[in-house]
Amino acid sequence: MACEDRFLNDQRPKIDCLLFDLDDTLYPLSSGLSTEILKNIGDYLVQKLGIEESKIPDMCNLLYKNYGTTMAGLRAIGYTFDYEEYHSFVHGRLPYEKIKPDPVLRHLLLSLPIRKIIFTNADRTHTAKVLNRLGLEDCFEGIICFETLNPPMEATRTNIFDIIEYSLRPVAGMELPETPVLCKPSEYAIKQAFDIAGIDPQKTIFFDDSARNIQAGKRIGLHTVLVGTSHKVKGADHALESIHNIREALPELWEEGERSGDVIYSGKVAIETTVTA
Ligand SMILES: [Mg+2]
Repeated sequence: MACEDRFLNDQRPKIDCLLFDLDDTLYPLSSGLSTEILKNIGDYLVQKLGIEESKIPDMCNLLYKNYGTTMAGLRAIGYTFDYEEYHSFVHGRLPYEKIKPDPVLRHLLLSLPIRKIIFTNADRTHTAKVLNRLGLEDCFEGIICFETLNPPMEATRTNIFDIIEYSLRPVAGMELPETPVLCKPSEYAIKQAFDIAGIDPQKTIFFDDSARNIQAGKRIGLHTVLVGTSHKVKGADHALESIHNIREALPELWEEGERSGDVIYSGKVAIETTVTA
C-alpha cells in the first residue's frame, strides 16, 4: 500500500507522536469492562432518562452507529443531562479490578523514545483509573479525553427526536439531527483535538481497536494501527492482535527516536499535566 511505502521509505516524515486509544486498546477486550459499560449505559437510559427498557438495544445501537457514542446520540436527539453524572453512572460501578497491571506494556512504552498521548472518548476520571490499574499513569505526555473537547452542557429543554421511528420509516428529505458532542470518529472532532494537542497527523501513528476510528484517522492522514485483531481492515496500515505486539510489528519506532536524538521519557509527567482544556 502506498501509505505503508511512505511510512517505510527513508524519505518519510519523521514519526514524532504515538496516539493511543484507551479502552480495549491498552487492555484486552477479554477484561469484560466493555460489556459492563454497555449494561450501565442501558441502565442510565432507563433509570435517568425514562426510556422504555424494550427500546434500549435498538436505541443504543442506532445512537452508537450514527453518532460515535451513545451519549453523543442522546444529545443529538434532544436529551439533556449532566455529563459528569452520566460518566459517573456509566463508569462509577465498573469492576476496575478486572484490569491488571501490565509491566510488559509499561516497559515497551517507556522504552519508546517518542511523544505518547492518549486519545479517548471516555472522561478524565475513568481514564485516570484505567491508567492507574494498568500501572501506566506516568507513561504518557498528555491525555485527550471527553472534557478536552466538550465544555459542560447548558441545560436547555428540547423535543425528543424519535430515532427508532426514523430508522424504521425514514422521511424523505429529513436528516438526522446533529450532535453538539465532539468525539471519535468525527473527523472534525479529531482535528480539533489535534489543534489543541499540537499533533501533526502526517507524523503520528494512531492505535485504536475501533475500525471506524481507524478509518476516520486514515482519512485525515494518520498512520494507523488496528489493535485487538490480526485481521487488517481498510484504512489500517497494520493490525495487532495485542498492543504487546507493537515491537514486532513496528521495530522502526525504536530506531526513529534514536535517529532523531529526541528522547523523551515522561517519568515525571503525570495525569495532572494533561492537555485537557
Ligand atoms: Mg477503544
